[in-house]
Amino acid sequence: MRLSRYFMPILKENPKEAEIVSHRLMLRAGMIRQQSQGIYSWLPLGKRVLDKVNAVIREEQNRAGAIELSMPTLQSAELWQESGRYDAYGKEMLRIKDRQERPMLYGPTNEEMVTDIFRASVKSYKDLPLNLYHIQLKFRDEIRPRFGTMRSREFMMKDAYSFDLTREAAEHSYNKMFAAYLRTFDRLGLRAIPMRADTGPIGGNLSHEFIILADTGESEVFCHKDFVGFDIPGERTDFDSVEGLQAIFDKWTSLYAATSEMHDEAAFNAIPEGERLSARGIEVGHIFYFGTKYSEPMGAKVQGPDGKEHFVHMGSYGIGPTRLVPAIIEASHDDNGIIWPASVAPFDVVVINMKAGDEACDDTCELIYAALTKAGKDVLYDDTDDRAGTKFATADLIGVPVQIIAGPRAVANGEVEVKDRKTGARETMTIEAAINRFVA
Ligand code: ATP
Ligand code: MG
Repeated sequence: MRLSRYFMPILKENPKEAEIVSHRLMLRAGMIRQQSQGIYSWLPLGKRVLDKVNAVIREEQNRAGAIELSMPTLQSAELWQESGRYDAYGKEMLRIKDRQERPMLYGPTNEEMVTDIFRASVKSYKDLPLNLYHIQLKFRDEIRPRFGTMRSREFMMKDAYSFDLTREAAEHSYNKMFAAYLRTFDRLGLRAIPMRADTGPIGGNLSHEFIILADTGESEVFCHKDFVGFDIPGERTDFDSVEGLQAIFDKWTSLYAATSEMHDEAAFNAIPEGERLSARGIEVGHIFYFGTKYSEPMGAKVQGPDGKEHFVHMGSYGIGPTRLVPAIIEASHDDNGIIWPASVAPFDVVVINMKAGDEACDDTCELIYAALTKAGKDVLYDDTDDRAGTKFATADLIGVPVQIIAGPRAVANGEVEVKDRKTGARETMTIEAAINRFVA
């Protein structure tokens, strides 16, 4: 992508409305724009990051055996009347009428709809286990939308729903998502700690919130310090192994960890003082097992091996991609801007032409741009005629992991400078060596 032809509306000034650093940086880097309260457009740079976050989420959901589909944002109120949640959900639900005066709603979550899909076609235990997920916009009319896309009214959610014949099987499905979440957040460069959680309006009796520690987090959390160093399940994790996944779950729930709603002061105080961690955190994921809470009222049942009909045991599993983007920034930035982990960086590398219009600089940059693009890298080429200082500031602000800087003096020697955004380390090398870094 040539910066001269891109759409990246950078702000020079700090936006007054932004209270936390991630919101400030997302606005300054031209990633998002608020369209009305708590409703955002994702501008091209932001969209790239969001897509990369979703790609990681999708890979790990698929690895754990979940199957992607897509359900609509608008739902019929009838489904929610069946489950009994239409009245219970309250003011967070945006209720709409269509031209026939039929009550509709903008989905805040999809338990009812996915249960409807399930009951229409699955009739036998032989088709279980089943886990269906989608990545879709949700709407919740939050009382206090704030911090940009961290808490917005329209937001994206990856929501997965599992169906099993028995409670034991459902626990295995729960553990699959538990392990998948550990892997997902790790790949996004985050340390998320699963904490016992309240089940809220989703209902049920087994639930964990995945929390990232951050000073600006809205939740107050309490846990054992050792969680910070726990091993993440590897790529080879066998998601079909009941014992293997139970061992991961047991390990990750062996120490105290709870949000303030579930906090047990006595249990926390039983941890030696030096090993206690009491902090603030951001909820980035939430998983629930809720048994037959929806399958019973909605009649979702299958024939079991005993020939009888059984209501299926369900769970639901949410991750908030549009909250994860600012959460990643909260965890990874410095005074100059964002520092993206490579897995979600909008571009892998930015090529900075220090003297656009100078033949040698132009040729060198074009060569590098073409070679890296051909190698499958996402390359941003700063071919503008801005001042050097502006270019450096922009590159640092948008947090691309590597900068290749081509100035007239280096280029005359067949060289460029390569800067690591995170460490700030700069290295002069031949043009070929700079390319080979990415191609090799
Ligand atoms: P919170 O407690 O932060 O209001 P919640 O418990 O209501 O969230 P869940 O129903 O558990 O949210 O939704 C699953 C995930 O969706 C959350 O873990 C979070 O990552 C994301 N999410 C929920 N509400 C919002 C929101 N208003 N803005 C952005 N992301 C959200
Ligand atoms: Mg929650």
